[in-house]
Amino acid sequence: MEGRLAMSHELLLWPLALAMALGTAGLVKWAADARTRVGAGVVLFLLVMMTAMLLGAAVYALAPSGRTAVLGLWVATALMSVSVFPLFLLILRSAQPGRSGTATSLAPPWGPFWPYVGSVVGLVLANELLMGWVFQLASGTPVTWSEGGVGGLSGMLAQIVDGPWFLFTMATEMAVTTALLWGRLSPPIRTVLLLQAGIMLLSPPALAGATWTAISIYAASGLMTVLFVYLMEYAYRTRQLALGFSAYIVRLLGVYALMMAGLFLWLVYGNSLAFAVAVLLEMVLFFDAVVRPDRLEAGDRVPWQLRPHWAFALLAGVFVSELFMGALLDAQIAGATFVGNLPAAPLSGTPLRIALDALYNGFWFIALVSISAWFLVMMGLEMGALVVLKIRETTRTELKLRLGIMLAAFWLFTVYFPSFWSTVPLVSATALSQVPVLGWGMGLGTGGPLAPAVFGAILVTYVLIGSASFLFGRRVLCSVLCNAPTMYQGTLVDAMGSFNRSSPIGRKYLGSRLSTTYSVTTGAVLVALVGSSVVSYLDAVGRLNVLVAGADPTVFLSTFSFGVLWYLMFVTIPYTGNYNCVTMGWCHWGTFSQLFSRFGFFRLKVKSREVCKACTTLDCAKSCPVGLVDMPGHFRTKGEFRSSKCCGVGDCVGACPYGNLEFHDVRHWIRARFGTGSKRARGSPLPMVSARARPGRLTTEGADPAAGVLSSAAPGAGLGR
Ligand code: SF4
Ligand code: SF4
Repeated sequence: MEGRLAMSHELLLWPLALAMALGTAGLVKWAADARTRVGAGVVLFLLVMMTAMLLGAAVYALAPSGRTAVLGLWVATALMSVSVFPLFLLILRSAQPGRSGTATSLAPPWGPFWPYVGSVVGLVLANELLMGWVFQLASGTPVTWSEGGVGGLSGMLAQIVDGPWFLFTMATEMAVTTALLWGRLSPPIRTVLLLQAGIMLLSPPALAGATWTAISIYAASGLMTVLFVYLMEYAYRTRQLALGFSAYIVRLLGVYALMMAGLFLWLVYGNSLAFAVAVLLEMVLFFDAVVRPDRLEAGDRVPWQLRPHWAFALLAGVFVSELFMGALLDAQIAGATFVGNLPAAPLSGTPLRIALDALYNGFWFIALVSISAWFLVMMGLEMGALVVLKIRETTRTELKLRLGIMLAAFWLFTVYFPSFWSTVPLVSATALSQVPVLGWGMGLGTGGPLAPAVFGAILVTYVLIGSASFLFGRRVLCSVLCNAPTMYQGTLVDAMGSFNRSSPIGRKYLGSRLSTTYSVTTGAVLVALVGSSVVSYLDAVGRLNVLVAGADPTVFLSTFSFGVLWYLMFVTIPYTGNYNCVTMGWCHWGTFSQLFSRFGFFRLKVKSREVCKACTTLDCAKSCPVGLVDMPGHFRTKGEFRSSKCCGVGDCVGACPYGNLEFHDVRHWIRARFGTGSKRARGSPLPMVSARARPGRLTTEGADPAAGVLSSAAPGAGLGR
């Protein structure tokens, strides 16, 4: 009986909530369109009226009785009456001679600046909170003083914000407001705002029940991934973002990072306060933007490649959001298996003890999540989408093929074998550490401790990777098998190669020369690898018992390198340059590969040195994500270039406007040696030397003779490659 009553209540309440959401959206649109003081005053007055009504209803809903009904009525009437006076005064003032309430531009304090915008946003926020509270009470769900370990006002706030009356109404308001302001918003802004509304609608805490929790977590994660891909691709294509919109993007990413952390805390520990705070912050951000939509398009359009702090905030926001999203998915899908492994050192004792335990917890949380199945799946989808977009704009078949193989390698070696292979019947009987390459994907430490039983698998792994690097260059590892290139070579991050040349640290590592800093770093990393391997072995045979942060030394070293340091360096690309694992030499696996690559067959060769001598674009150097800016000099003098830092990405080959550049590896050596000849790369005619030109004199066809060479229309010709 009670259930039927509650349901009939809800059937009445939802149309009312919808009507209020539409009304609020209409008022926000009115607020955004207000061009006169009186118009702005009327909007504020109506919002105050709404607040007054909801406040009166809240008084009654708290303890329904005849007395509270009268009290609620009094509260509402009093507030409404008081709010009439300012509006009345405003109308009187605007009616005075010399003043006009119909002026087309608003001056402070009613103009489109913060007191007015703050009042609108504050009132909308107050209305939403009151509405969430009243409707929750009316639907028969009490709002208690404490919730999920959060007491007092914070607990109440969390219950209201995380309820369906707040979240669904808010999502509706966001979508309707965007629709009402459609004509004043540019397509990218509309897309972002609508995706925000969709993500809000899919808030997991909104409804109780395992089915909704599961569906909303998957769908919201998917939608957020779509939003991130869209934003990154938009930044890549646009380059010169308006300051207003670029600021909005990084703030939104910050809010989403908090929201994902909040959802993880909610799912694992039942604490919903962080999620509620993130929702409120998003609401403020959203309404602040739509009340003055023109501001999003305002401001100078400075290329983000000249704004490293902005680019850092973008990468950091995406990474932190993805980290918690991965943890959320892992907790949802693997449940106790994943959560039980999370570090939980107690934060008690001396301040130093607390700091060390917090560091320990933080380190292992990042490390465990960043190598977990669902984090890598989300990252693979997100960064893989950018790689697919890169494939679409790449013209050289060889490069397309390499990017395709790289994606396939990511899904096989980074996702499938480490996380899912063991679940396949039959093969699961074989421990992964017994399988060369698959079990030791990133060299020592990735398959476990260095025990005598796995010597064979490790040896075969190193022999295979060393041989492949000798024959085809380190690109086998650093452009295909490693998971790093998938992260580096999507459209946006690849374009961040410009930071190799503009950032103070990146500049120090430019060129093929191995600087002292590089040599010291690489040396230290290799010494650490050898040292940890010896200790790991002695541990395994029972001669020592040394652990680092609770783990085997080689496992710790590889976890630190690839689970924590790598991501730290990834988000700092705007300060350190792209592919900094290669340029700075801190990756032991890459260093091993480069030793063999350096003396192997791989090199870059040009078809004509004369073309390079006449070239003024130097697009090959500009496009190099590793910052090998000295390659044109080598082409001019030797006709080829080889560097142990070159990881064979091939951007230079695609960027050369004259198709003058090609890879050489063991296949070309065999052809040359056994007389099959070198195949000229398809689609790369040499336009430089005119058939009518006198021998020894270089001219250009279809080019400005004064310039000496063709001017490049290739995307890489400018700042952004
Ligand atoms: S240097 Fe290391 S982390 Fe970087 S791409 Fe190569 S193997 Fe991967
Ligand atoms: S862009 Fe092409 S022609 Fe110019 S220096 Fe590089 S390889 Fe030579």
